[in-house]
Amino acid sequence: MGVARAVRAAGNGDDPARQLYERIGAFLFDQRLEPDPANFAFAWALLHDPHGPLAKAVAALTDGGVRLTKRDIESLGHEAPVSARSVREKAEGLVARTQLQVEGFADMVQAIRAETEGFGRDLAASADAIRRSSEALDGPLIEEVSRITATMVERVHSAEARLESATREASELRSKLEEARDNARRDPLTDLPNRRAFEEAFAAQVAAGGQLCIAVCDIDHFKHVNDRFGHVVGDRVLKTIAEALTQSCPGQLVARYGGEEFAILFTGVDIAAACATLDHARASVAAKRYRLRESDAPLGEITFSAGLTHVDPEQKFGTNFHRADVLLYRAKDDGRNRVLAG
Ligand code: GH3
Ligand code: MG
Ligand code: MG
Repeated sequence: MGVARAVRAAGNGDDPARQLYERIGAFLFDQRLEPDPANFAFAWALLHDPHGPLAKAVAALTDGGVRLTKRDIESLGHEAPVSARSVREKAEGLVARTQLQVEGFADMVQAIRAETEGFGRDLAASADAIRRSSEALDGPLIEEVSRITATMVERVHSAEARLESATREASELRSKLEEARDNARRDPLTDLPNRRAFEEAFAAQVAAGGQLCIAVCDIDHFKHVNDRFGHVVGDRVLKTIAEALTQSCPGQLVARYGGEEFAILFTGVDIAAACATLDHARASVAAKRYRLRESDAPLGEITFSAGLTHVDPEQKFGTNFHRADVLLYRAKDDGRNRVLAG
């Protein structure tokens, strides 16, 4: 099946939102796909635009009644959203494993200490005996000392091997923890820092002192891009704008703040310089001629509007951000494709 039957499956009701919802459900059941967030997102991308490129690709794959597999979905290039919850659960799992590791280390160190203590005792006893004995250099005592020493050398080697493997495991865990920490602060679609990273960077920069400005940029009429070309193309546009902003604002923190909104934290420049940089970014985005990768058909103009404000370090993040947001909405009201600073 696919799209055609899922589209027909939503016969009842006039509410388009309900119809879309029912089509998504029918599609997932029909394809025996788990109703998980990734599959929902895929079904939404497919069914909200039943004649788009994704729907065509799915129709070709499912021709003849073949069912879609998870691999098909991945091969169609649909990136499943990484939920904050899944990132958190992964991080919690790593923390629990690290805790177990630390406990394992403590046990190991205790066992090694017990072994060396035993060795020390045995060696001390033998040394005493050697000192007391008139036949110190006789065979049996020397043999005893060399037996204890050989045992200890063996134990030290085995302890070294255990420590080495535990150290390797700990460093693997450390890099996984760092990766999880990074994932929690990065937007998977654009690879930009996310809202959380932006707010943390703001706090750190305020604490460090110095001149700061915040900009909020929002793509103009982005809903039209999704409506006309589909969500997958919309995602590509988001990546393109992310790259354009990053390139146009070197040395500044560009983040995907949410949806089709980007935030920029300017450091070490005054508001006039920040405004000039941002306006240059705006003009270069607006000047590009965007085309569909598949057919080379033009996408039309893509522009963004922005609000830019200086940061008052005495005020909270939300208060500063709100000032930029108010300017952004004035820029929208004034006709879009512009930067308003204040
Ligand atoms: P305006 O100029 O007033 O900002 O209009 P707009 O259409 O850009 O704003 P609106 O808030 O109406 O729509 C934003 C759209 O952005 C709706 C939402 O589906 C889309 N969007 C948000 N996040 C994503 C995403 O990750 N991928 C895609 N493709 N679309 C997204
Ligand atoms: Mg918006
Ligand atoms: Mg918008």
